[in-house]
Amino acid sequence: MPTVDASVMRSANKRTVLSLLYQKQTLSRAEISRVTGLNRATVSSLVDELIAEEFVEETGVGTSSGGRKPILLQFKVDTGFVIGIDVQITHLTTVLINAARQILYERRRNLLSEEQPVDAEALTQMLVEEIYLAKRACPPSPHGLMGVGIGLPGMVNHEQGRALYLPNMGIVNWLVRDALQHHLALPVFVDNDANCGAWAQYLATRLPNLVFINAGIGLGVGLIMHGQLYRGTHGIAGEAGHHTIRAAEDRCSCGNLGCWEQYSSENGLARALARQGVAVPWPLPADFVSQTVAAAETGSAAHRRAFQELAEALGVGLVNILNIFNPTATYLGGTLAEAHEWILPEAHAVIAERALMANRQMTVTPVPNNTVALGAAGLALAQSIDLLPAQI
Ligand SMILES: [Zn+2]
Repeated sequence: MPTVDASVMRSANKRTVLSLLYQKQTLSRAEISRVTGLNRATVSSLVDELIAEEFVEETGVGTSSGGRKPILLQFKVDTGFVIGIDVQITHLTTVLINAARQILYERRRNLLSEEQPVDAEALTQMLVEEIYLAKRACPPSPHGLMGVGIGLPGMVNHEQGRALYLPNMGIVNWLVRDALQHHLALPVFVDNDANCGAWAQYLATRLPNLVFINAGIGLGVGLIMHGQLYRGTHGIAGEAGHHTIRAAEDRCSCGNLGCWEQYSSENGLARALARQGVAVPWPLPADFVSQTVAAAETGSAAHRRAFQELAEALGVGLVNILNIFNPTATYLGGTLAEAHEWILPEAHAVIAERALMANRQMTVTPVPNNTVALGAAGLALAQSIDLLPAQI
């Protein structure tokens, strides 16, 4: 029987081999041995185990510089699937992805005005319905549906699977994981929506220092620092929507005055439109940003001025964020990203004028509206297959 140390070592070696195959296209056993420094017999035995567990498959023969042609191995991308759901105040976005993060299914569900703000019980029911719908699109596979990741708009304790406070829904202290597992026999992972977005961009770019702004009804920030999600002591780091950009102005639901999200979110856009004399429906419709973009495009001066006002406030907050974190890249997600042509040029002008010299060239990149859902799925994937790289 192996000692504990030997089994720990074997597990670490197995992780190394699978990580390598996950990151490279195809490799032979000899190449794995050469890259990892593990001896051929160890590699063969670990590969046999990974093939038996259906994480790895033999895919053909490679070229030989003499002697027997090597058998090529690759990570089995359809070994299993995960679901990611981005929960927003006005809509839910669900994706089903395979282990290579390829999308097999995607759906957006808009919440009707009379459904808002949704309470914890109704939201649980909606999430269960969305998970069942996505599950139907899950093809047969060795590991099946391995887990579900949920991104939530507010403060989340990811270890406990608990939403501490979702301010724009009025939900407090909700045990999301327990509520869902009451209905589903699946691992459930929960995180803040902006953290999920930051994680998605990290998986896509591998940039070790990046900022993800998620601007919908409210605004949150996800931070990747040195290749890790930065969560802070209580897991609520990145609540930059509640940093003050205009002292002694509008009272925020958090109790502070002049919070960034009061001006740089859908709520901020609604207030800017109201100041321009535009009647705004309440609660805001799920397509509020695209409606406002359409009005600006048809030449409405009031809508254009509202975007201008929002863009200046977005820029001021971004200057603060850039000066604090000095990231390599900054992304804008959430519904406001749909208005990027109307807001980012002005925000960039504010950055160029007001940020510290090293941060002045930063351009903010808008991302597709499924990014948070993909990040939530990515988090579930990393935690479902604990042999995969880039865990947190
Ligand atoms: Zn606030």
